[in-house]
Amino acid sequence: MIELIDVSLKYDNETVALDDINLKIDDGEFVFIVGSSGAGKSSIIKLLLRERKSSYGVVKVNGFNLNKMKSRKIPEFRRSLGVVFQDFRLIPTLNVFDNVAFSLRVTNASTRYIRTRVPYILNLMGLEAKAKRFPHEISGGEQQRVALARALVNDPPLIIADEPTGNVDPELSYEIVNLLKGINECGTTIVMVTHEHDIVRHFGGRTISIEHGRIMFDEVIGGHHEGE
Ligand code: ADP
Repeated sequence: MIELIDVSLKYDNETVALDDINLKIDDGEFVFIVGSSGAGKSSIIKLLLRERKSSYGVVKVNGFNLNKMKSRKIPEFRRSLGVVFQDFRLIPTLNVFDNVAFSLRVTNASTRYIRTRVPYILNLMGLEAKAKRFPHEISGGEQQRVALARALVNDPPLIIADEPTGNVDPELSYEIVNLLKGINECGTTIVMVTHEHDIVRHFGGRTISIEHGRIMFDEVIGGHHEGE
């Protein structure tokens, strides 16, 4: 569960990036956060990942109160969520299998578990044939699917996707969101930040619109192609 209560974020130069944000995202939801450039979307992500602390208010994610959390708890907190970035952030020197396995290795998972879990997730993402390829040897859409596989492999209750379709071809954007939808149907909470209104209109669902650091609307909108 995510809860922001009266949250404001001011950067050092006094820019008010977020101004009195209140929102609650329950377990199992799929939520789009939309807004134009400079609206405050990345600032929300930074708060949710505890890359920054809010200047005012309370930020709670997965049972952690991020304002009060001690630094030594941050690794444990970060393991409770999966993150997907616009620029994929794969490790260029590791092949697809090892990029995904990396997430498990840092949690000291056994080799035996890694050998079964990684192929299972790669299969789920349609990447079984790419396991031995390196990131530069696969397409942008495939790289983003590897990033999704890496976010999923620890089975986190929450996935935060920051403009996950920003660097993939338009037709593959829909595929990425369809994969996220499928993951959500298995119970994982998904928060996806995007500035692509076409995608939001296509899929519909709960949409939180941010402008000038404030919530403009928070409502469920109907998609054009539901059930596709
Ligand atoms: P978005 O992700 O929607 O494009 P941001 O959250 O990045 O918006 O930015 C919100 C506001 O905060 C903008 O006015 C931006 O210029 C400002 N901002 C973002 N990061 C910083 C920073 N590190 N220092 C100062 N101002 C910042």
